[in-house]
Amino acid sequence: MVTRESPPLTSWVGTRSEAVTTALRELVGASETIPLVWSVRTCSDEAVALHVQLTLGEHGTLDIDLGTPGTLHRPKLARRTYAVGLRTPPSTPASRVALGRRVIATIAARADTEDLAAGLWAAVREHAALTDVSDWMFRQVTGVGAHKVGNLRLGFRCNQDCGFCWQDRSWPGAPDALYTTWLDELAAQGIASLIITGGEPTLFRGLVGLVERATQHHGLRVQLQTNAVQLRRESLAVGLAKAGVDGLFVSLHSVDAGISDQLTRAPGTWAHTMAGIANALAAGIHVDLNALVNADTVGGLPQHAKTIVDRFVTPASAGRVGSVTYSFPAPSFDAAHYHASLVPLDEVRVPLSEAIGTLASAGVTVDVGGTCGFPPCVYPDHVDAVRSLHVADVGAWDRTDRVFVEPCDGCSMRARCLGLRRGYVERFGARGVVPIP
Ligand code: SF4
Ligand code: SF4
Repeated sequence: MVTRESPPLTSWVGTRSEAVTTALRELVGASETIPLVWSVRTCSDEAVALHVQLTLGEHGTLDIDLGTPGTLHRPKLARRTYAVGLRTPPSTPASRVALGRRVIATIAARADTEDLAAGLWAAVREHAALTDVSDWMFRQVTGVGAHKVGNLRLGFRCNQDCGFCWQDRSWPGAPDALYTTWLDELAAQGIASLIITGGEPTLFRGLVGLVERATQHHGLRVQLQTNAVQLRRESLAVGLAKAGVDGLFVSLHSVDAGISDQLTRAPGTWAHTMAGIANALAAGIHVDLNALVNADTVGGLPQHAKTIVDRFVTPASAGRVGSVTYSFPAPSFDAAHYHASLVPLDEVRVPLSEAIGTLASAGVTVDVGGTCGFPPCVYPDHVDAVRSLHVADVGAWDRTDRVFVEPCDGCSMRARCLGLRRGYVERFGARGVVPIP
């Protein structure tokens, strides 16, 4: 089960909206007792305007426009950093018109309105930049009881730019100090383990300190989700090991440098990821791998598995990769890219089964049926060899993008299957779906 909002966790996105309200009240001289609602009417880096509605007892509502210079048509008051307009159509009672004029006069009379307006625009811009971001993206608790897991996302900055990423690289991160606050709050919620993710969490300068605080102060198990590019620096791998990180979940979508760099849109980073995995294993950190199965990677799955075994399992000189997760593409921020990258399941079945066989023979755990995974009918020969999923243990959130198709009605695996991705069915229908008797 996913807990979308836990009240004791500090809000950041929510407080940005409050910051706009506070700045507005100061500028127009409206006390806390006056109900005030606002909406951003236009907003760009240069031009910002707000429609503000004040409720003034027996006078009813008063509508004010506030904007940066040049954004309002015939403002009642225009200064260097702001302009104010009144919405008083002909039917407006004279008392309310007079009240509006008094509000304008009050604003004009203040010596500090230029500063207040500058503060307001800064708050509005910060709020507007968070339109697509929610507090739960930064910190949430998933699971229940002894299985509660904390999730801490250190912003959305990344040194890669994968077309299949669900995030927009321009989304802003929270203030640095908040991540420590959230870590402490998550720990207080009775979690036993913590997932630190991003963006790319290794770009966060305080990462090692956060891991240390989580493991040594709070006694948590910590897994880091990373592309391992930064771990090409041995010192970071050693630092994370010393801080007590329990494991890395590393994205390695292809073992073909060209394909990988094309997927991540970050030339040269495949080699860094491979070096990062080797450094982490050498530092004694447990490593699990994750690979997306899409039109670009599906043909290379057998080689993907073989290279993992040759490079990161067989050599006795360092630790070995513990598991490989194969993921069914989920909707990405770039919707067109998502649909173009989907591959029919009947084209996945053979190479995926071969890869599973190679890894399983080498003693590597394969996770292909988890909440990000494929339906069992894509790997019918390996259903018992891979980690199984029980739908009853999966929260509603992980089922939102999943659907079943007509052939599923006769399938014996229905209780261990989350179904198909919605986007897959939109593009391919029931293609490749073969019920298991
Ligand atoms: S490495 Fe992860 S966070 Fe970075 S762009 Fe790729 S999918 Fe997104
Ligand atoms: S046939 Fe349907 S229910 Fe059965 S494994 Fe495939 S997708 Fe799941």
